[in-house]
Amino acid sequence: MFKKILIPIDLSELEVAKPALSAAVELALHAQGAMRLITVETLLPASFMEYVPPEFDKSQEERANHALAEIGAGLSVLKERISHTVRFGGIYVEILAEADEWGADLIVIGSHRPSMATYLIGSNAKTIVRHAKCSVLVIRSVT
Ligand code: ADP
Repeated sequence: MFKKILIPIDLSELEVAKPALSAAVELALHAQGAMRLITVETLLPASFMEYVPPEFDKSQEERANHALAEIGAGLSVLKERISHTVRFGGIYVEILAEADEWGADLIVIGSHRPSMATYLIGSNAKTIVRHAKCSVLVIRSVT
């Protein structure tokens, strides 16, 4: 049913990503669909730039690409059906833009269990559910 599945991953919270990845793999295998992993790196404010090395963004991007490639290689999906991308900017803005540009028909996001602090669903997950043009599956993690 779903042929192009986008999975946003917060590289600092891989435990939350795991259940979402497992669900996405099952769906992709079932439909012989493609998966794309995306992580969004935050841009540093211009005023910080003089305090970081000139290649900071580049090495941040390389590290993130490498991490996504490793995650992808560990999934039981054919290599040609999996891709990844790193974008810079606002988290949900970039995820929604990638979903549009790539033509995703499903976004699978992980989310913590509801707490009073987030009231039912986290803010990135909530905004993606509200504004995505395609279907969105929110997988709750138990941690
Ligand atoms: P919470 O973590 O409080 O449940 P969020 O609304 O931040 O709530 O949703 C978490 C999900 O958002 C993550 O599982 C991931 O899918 C996505 N996400 C969060 N940060 C990033 C990021 N930097 N890059 C890509 N996806 C992210």
